[in-house]
Amino acid sequence: MTEMTVIAASGAALPQEPFLGRHLIGGTWRQSLSAKTFDRHSPAHGVLASRSALGAREDAEAAIRAARASFDSGNWSRISGKARATVLLKAADLIEANADRIALIETLESGKPITQARGEAAGAADLWRYAASLARTMHGDSHNTLGPDMLGVVVKEPIGVVSIITPWNFAFWILGQKLPFALAAGCSCVVKPSEMTPSSTVIMGELLIEAGLPAGVVNIVLGYGPDVGGTMTTAPEVDMVTFTGSTAVGKSISAAASATLKKVALELGGKNPQVIFPDADMESAADAVTFGVYFNAGECCNSGSRIIVHEDVADDLITRVVALSRKVAFGDPLDPATQVGAIITPQHLGKIDSYVREAEKAGAEVALGGARLSVPGLSGDFYQPTVVRGVTPGMAIAREEVFGPVLSVLTFQTMEEALALTNDDAYGLSAGVWSENVHTCLEFSRRAQAGTVWTNTWMDGFPELTFGGMKQSGQGREIGPYGLDEFLEVKTLVMRIGKTRAPWVRQG
Ligand code: NDP
Repeated sequence: MTEMTVIAASGAALPQEPFLGRHLIGGTWRQSLSAKTFDRHSPAHGVLASRSALGAREDAEAAIRAARASFDSGNWSRISGKARATVLLKAADLIEANADRIALIETLESGKPITQARGEAAGAADLWRYAASLARTMHGDSHNTLGPDMLGVVVKEPIGVVSIITPWNFAFWILGQKLPFALAAGCSCVVKPSEMTPSSTVIMGELLIEAGLPAGVVNIVLGYGPDVGGTMTTAPEVDMVTFTGSTAVGKSISAAASATLKKVALELGGKNPQVIFPDADMESAADAVTFGVYFNAGECCNSGSRIIVHEDVADDLITRVVALSRKVAFGDPLDPATQVGAIITPQHLGKIDSYVREAEKAGAEVALGGARLSVPGLSGDFYQPTVVRGVTPGMAIAREEVFGPVLSVLTFQTMEEALALTNDDAYGLSAGVWSENVHTCLEFSRRAQAGTVWTNTWMDGFPELTFGGMKQSGQGREIGPYGLDEFLEVKTLVMRIGKTRAPWVRQG
């Protein structure tokens, strides 16, 4: 019997009534034209968390028309950066004032721990504030060296109507990586949250109305990907699609959007390695590895699910990580002591387990966990902290996103081997290096094919620092100044000063 830290049902009050979500279209909250709804039950408690309007093609089309009309009217696209920043700053204040409400529904719908959900709401407020600073400081450039009679000015303009499609793993946070930046640029938007976690996006819509955002600038449609999301990626009135989710759906969105040549920005999966050299601070590395794999139950594009450790220190690291894993508090997401909550759906739990079973069959060894976790007093879906060693590069568990609390351990002997293992992957989202030698860290960081490389840390992020993936982890960047640029068109103005141009047509 494996000892683990399990937090039993806390007895925290569960909602008597579900959160009721409707579409926001042209400044009005609406049911679906079909009047249909869909339900989301808490994956940890089984309680009915929300009942939402079930959108279809015609609801998405109405939202797109509202966004197009708002953009073309200039009610947001042509106002000053100062006026936009004022609304974004007010929205940030309102997020903070409503953080508990946002966190509770996010926890009920996603199964993530309540303390983490509160932290994400606070972090999202910071993203809105940072985007407000960009709304006031963005600018193009001027060319004063083209000759005495010429002036060139390059201006930046909002790209237009943007479709925003978000996943369930960080519903409110990922909305904050996209929406305030699109708004800072002056775009009008249609947002579709995942059907698993629709409600925090609905709350954001309420807060934006309270903050004074003009009607039609942000529209929200609830429902499923193929109907609502499909319309948002093909409608000719949409200029850009920004999507976070699986690589498979990202590819299908890119293909669908190509018919109208929309700009597409994609944040997709990752199989992110942390590479541990023998001179690393093993205590810090083991703690970061443990955090990296269990944070958000591993349902995280940045999950550090692939450890590549030097052979000389592999046993030491695995012993440390297994010991730390036993101390991580898994269980009732509503208990503030819980660090890891429930898995999003029973189907997803089955998928996680099948990766572990397949790796075992292929010769890997399960050093810890590897099964469903039972939490006293809760019938929901939980998975044990799991460490799998003896993984070889060809195994699916080493190459594919497991999206669960499952660590795969591979080993290396030389820097070249560590880099080959790191880069021999379709993904390129993030990577980490652990060593006390600055040359080792710099060489690895420069040669790793990843959008972010962490050195002696894992998953630290800041609104100022851009984020995104190489290879099949995506295209385009989010947050930071580059995140704003995604939502901007660049236009060149070429101006002659005075009547100095020699006529092209010969006179006389
Ligand atoms: P998806 O990629 O399927 O969903 C993400 C969003 O896209 C959801 O809002 C979804 O709608 C929508 N969507 C689905 N199909 C289409 C479509 N054809 N056109 C437009 N939008 C669409 O992720 P899942 O939630 O289904 O998760 C599946 C797997 O993806 C996970 O197990 C995990 O491995 C990975 N994943 C990776 C994430 C990351 O951050 N890298 C985030 C989430 C998942 P809806 O689901 O409501 O129908």
